[in-house]
Amino acid sequence: MSIVLLGLGCTTKQAATEEFNYKVDRFADVEIIRYRVRGFEDLSLRQKKLIYYLSEAALWGRDIIYDQNYRHNLLIRQSLESIYQYAAISRQGEDWLAFEEYLKRLWVANGIHHHYSTDKFRPGFSKEFFVKALKAVPDDKLPIFTTENRMLNEDQEGYKTEQLADSLAGCLLPLLFDAGLDAKRVNQAQGKDLVLSSACNFYRDLNQKEAEAFYAALNNPDDPSPVSYGLNSRLIKEEGQLREEVWKIGGLYSSALEKIVYWLDLAKDVAENQVQKEIIQSLIDYYHSGDLKTFDQFSILWVQDLQSKVDFINGFIESYGDPLGIKGSWEAIVNFKNEEASKRTQIISDNAQWFEDHAPIADAFRKKQVKGVSAKVITNAIMAGDAYPTTAIGINLPNANWIRRDYGSKSVTIENITEAYFKSSQGSGFNEEFMWSDAEVEASANYGFVTGNLHTDLHECLGHGSGQLLPGVDPNALRSYGSVMEEARADLFALYFLADPKLVELGLVPDGQAYKAEYYEYMMNGLLTQLTRIEKGRQIEESHMRNRALIARWLLDRGSKDKVMELKKQHNKTYLLIHDYEALRQMTGQLLAEVQRIKSEGDYPAAQLMVENYAVQVDPLLHQEILDRYAKLNLSPYKGFVNPTYKPVYNDKNEIVDVTVHYDESYVKQHLRYSKDYAALPVQN
Ligand code: ZN
Repeated sequence: MSIVLLGLGCTTKQAATEEFNYKVDRFADVEIIRYRVRGFEDLSLRQKKLIYYLSEAALWGRDIIYDQNYRHNLLIRQSLESIYQYAAISRQGEDWLAFEEYLKRLWVANGIHHHYSTDKFRPGFSKEFFVKALKAVPDDKLPIFTTENRMLNEDQEGYKTEQLADSLAGCLLPLLFDAGLDAKRVNQAQGKDLVLSSACNFYRDLNQKEAEAFYAALNNPDDPSPVSYGLNSRLIKEEGQLREEVWKIGGLYSSALEKIVYWLDLAKDVAENQVQKEIIQSLIDYYHSGDLKTFDQFSILWVQDLQSKVDFINGFIESYGDPLGIKGSWEAIVNFKNEEASKRTQIISDNAQWFEDHAPIADAFRKKQVKGVSAKVITNAIMAGDAYPTTAIGINLPNANWIRRDYGSKSVTIENITEAYFKSSQGSGFNEEFMWSDAEVEASANYGFVTGNLHTDLHECLGHGSGQLLPGVDPNALRSYGSVMEEARADLFALYFLADPKLVELGLVPDGQAYKAEYYEYMMNGLLTQLTRIEKGRQIEESHMRNRALIARWLLDRGSKDKVMELKKQHNKTYLLIHDYEALRQMTGQLLAEVQRIKSEGDYPAAQLMVENYAVQVDPLLHQEILDRYAKLNLSPYKGFVNPTYKPVYNDKNEIVDVTVHYDESYVKQHLRYSKDYAALPVQN
C-alpha cells in the first residue's frame, strides 16, 4: 500500500519516474510488462555488487529449465532463434508473423508447451515455410545435434552440408507439427499414466508405477528429517535398472552449474555478513556434490537468515513441473527487502501464534508452537529459470515439511511485481464487465491493492506454515492432489483471517469492510473469470487454478442453499452476487477445517473426491460466455516480464565502483541476448 502513495507529488525525480512505462510487448494471450526496482540506487556499493553477481548466477541457469521442461526444447529454441536472426528470407507475410509469435510464446513458456495449460503450442506457420526458412540459415548458425548417436554438424561419414538443414528439419517437423506427439508437458488427467503421458524431461523410459515404487522404497516413515528424495535428478531406466542422473557439477547440467557457481563464488566475497557467506558456500557445496543433505543444510541456514537485506533463491525448488510432484524445476530470484512495507508483514508474523491458535481447525492438526514465521515484503531485482518471464507474487520456502516444522519458513510478498500488475491493468474495463454492480467495482478500487497484498502475505507467511501432519503421515500421501490441496489450505487460511476483526485491531486494514473486496474478487475469479485462461474444450489443470475453483465452487455449492451467494443471469451475462459476507466467512472456516484434516491425515481418497468434484470440470456454456465477454475487452489473460539490466561501472583499475540499473531492453532483444550470453548447455542433455 505504501508503494501506491509513494512518489505522488514528491521530488521531481520521483514524479518523473512515475511515468515509468510498464508496457513492453503483446502477442497471443500474453502481455509483457516491466517491473521497477525501486530503491536499488540507494543500496550500498557492496549490496549492488552482491545483487549483480547473484543476478549473473541466476541468468546462467536459463538453459536448465528449457531442458527440464522438454528434452528437445533447447534444440528447438536454438533452431528457431537462428531462423529469426540469420535466415535469408522475407520478414513479411502471415507465415513470418506466425513464426515470430511462436518464438515469442516459446520464450514465455521456456519451451514449446504453454506455461500454464502445459499444452503444446500449435504453429500458425506452414511446414513448407519452416523448411524453407531452415534451409536459408547458414550452416554455421545451425545447432549441433545428434540423431541416432551420429554427429550431424560435421561434414563427415558421407553427410554433405546441405543435409544438415534437411536432417534438422526431419527431426523438428514432428516435434513442432505433430499435435499428438508429446502433447502435454504435465499431464494430471485421472486414469492416465502421468509419467508416460507427460512430456517433461524428468523420467526416461519408465512408467508412473516404476517411478512411484522407486521413491516409495527410499521413503522411511520413521525418519524425522528425510531429504527430498528425487528433487535434483532425472530418473532413467537402463537395461532394466532404475537409476538417477543427478543435476550437479560433474553430473547432468554440469556446464550450467559451473557458471552458476563461478558467480556465486564472487557473490560470496561481497556477502553482507558471515551467515550469508556460509549460506552461499553451502549452496556451492550442494551444486558440487548433489547431496540433498547439503541442500537441507543450506535451506536451514537460509531460512534463519533474517538479517541480510539482499536475499535470493537459486536452485531446484518447486515441483509443479513434475506430474508426480517430486522433481524440482530450476529457478532463481534475487531481491532485497522493502523496509517500509515489511512493517506490515512484521505485524503478521509477530502475531503468528495468535492466528494459529484461532484457526478454525481441529486441535490435533494445530501447531502448538509456531516456529520462526518470518515474513517480509521484497523488491525483485532479477528473475530467472522457472520464475521468468512469468512469475509468482508471493513465495514461501523451503518446501521440506520437516524443516518448516523445526525451523519455520521464510515468506515473501513481491510488491514491485504486484505493483506492476496493478498499474498495468488500470482502466482495462475488466471489473466493470464482470462485477455485479458499481459497489463491487468501487470496493475493488478502494481496497483491492491493500487486501490483495494482504491475502498474499497471509497465504505465504501464515497459511503454508500453519497446521501439522499427524505422526507417521507421509508428507506425499496426497500425491498428485498434494499441491492443489496445499494451495487451497493456504488460500483458505488467508481468506478466513482477512475478515477477522483482529486485522482492523492490528491496523492492517482500514476498516471492517475491506475484506469484502478480496472475497468478491476471489470468488468471481474462481467461479467465472479465471476461465479466460482456459482454452475452449479444456478442463482446469494448473494447481493454483484448480485450488481457486475448488474453494469458490465448494462455497457456492454450500452457500447457494442458504442464499449466502448465487450466480445470477442478467442480459445473458452471468454474475456473482454475495448476499451474506459474514456467513461466507464462516464457510471458508468450515472448508479450511476439512482441507486441513485431509492434509493432516493424508486422506488421499477425500482429496481425490474434492479435487475431481470441484476443481477440474468446466461448464462449456459458461466458459463460452466468459470467453466472449473477455474477448470484447481485448486484454491478455497472462502477463510476463522483462528483467531490468544491470551494468557494472569500472574505474581504471578495473574495479567495480557502481552498478546501474536500466529499463530499456525490449522483450525480443532480452531473449536473444540471454540465448547468446548465457548459452550454458548443449542442445541435448
Ligand atoms: Zn502457495
